[in-house]
Amino acid sequence: MKKIPYINEEVANRDFKYYIFDWDDNILHMPTKIKMEHLEEDGSWKPVEVSTSTFALVRSDSKHYRAPGGNWNNAFVNFEDHPGANTFIEDTIDALEKVAHGDKPGPSYNALRKTLREGRLFAIVTARGHSPSTIEKAVRIFIKYALTEEDREEMMSNLRGYRQWLDGVGDGEFGTDSEELDYYLSMCRYSAVTYSGFKERMANDPIYREKLATAPTAAKPELAKEFAIRNFVEHVFHMLRSSGSLNRSVSIGFSDDDVGNVKTVSTFIREELSKRFEGIKFVVYDTSDRSLSKGRKVCVSGQLNLPGF
Ligand SMILES: [Mg+2]
Repeated sequence: MKKIPYINEEVANRDFKYYIFDWDDNILHMPTKIKMEHLEEDGSWKPVEVSTSTFALVRSDSKHYRAPGGNWNNAFVNFEDHPGANTFIEDTIDALEKVAHGDKPGPSYNALRKTLREGRLFAIVTARGHSPSTIEKAVRIFIKYALTEEDREEMMSNLRGYRQWLDGVGDGEFGTDSEELDYYLSMCRYSAVTYSGFKERMANDPIYREKLATAPTAAKPELAKEFAIRNFVEHVFHMLRSSGSLNRSVSIGFSDDDVGNVKTVSTFIREELSKRFEGIKFVVYDTSDRSLSKGRKVCVSGQLNLPGF
């Protein structure tokens, strides 16, 4: 076993790499079910629950499937927070247990593990409707299940390294491991784009209020992902500027298994973000093909071959 230093001072020589992850079928295959109704032979509609992958197949079969009572708001109740229920947390534990017992995780599972181990900032951007604190909780559970004890020790060593380098925290001044972890996770971003608080923020943004007003309904989820990505890139940019670190190589990766999102986000990066943030390299990973272990890598802007993911 390699010796892990208490403070990894080597992080000061690293390039800046940040990642934005979609959650469902990108990090984990979640057991969360969508509520629908199925047309029976006797002509009655019977409630059924379908997986996200089945939903993709039956959503357009309106002859045999419909939203409960015809109302789509009732279909995704398991993708939201409800008082006294922790569906997202329970489903995350369930999915992680399955991985621990040999099931294949999502294509970006190992990329999130590595991001956490290296103590790099990241954002979770999902179409779900949970509060940021619910998603942060799920990330803590991911750390517990998916990282080994050695990985977690390495993560803490890297986190202290960044704190020393960027915040000037000296040896002997660090908080407890749990305080340092809290600080790190508070610097990351958790955006569920159908959460009421998120929708409100988006409606109050002058640019996105305008974009929303003119977009067709079907394009709204993608717009929301754009908004979440822009917020994270701005967050990273301001942080780097205030620490005087904009003179080194910065790259931001985005991974999603939904080809529609990949397409919209790629266009958004090419046409807007890469022009506004000229020094930043953006890399988009299309993870829709489950037969590839790390998903397909698509470089949108910057160098063609970035060193290892
Ligand atoms: Mg997904």
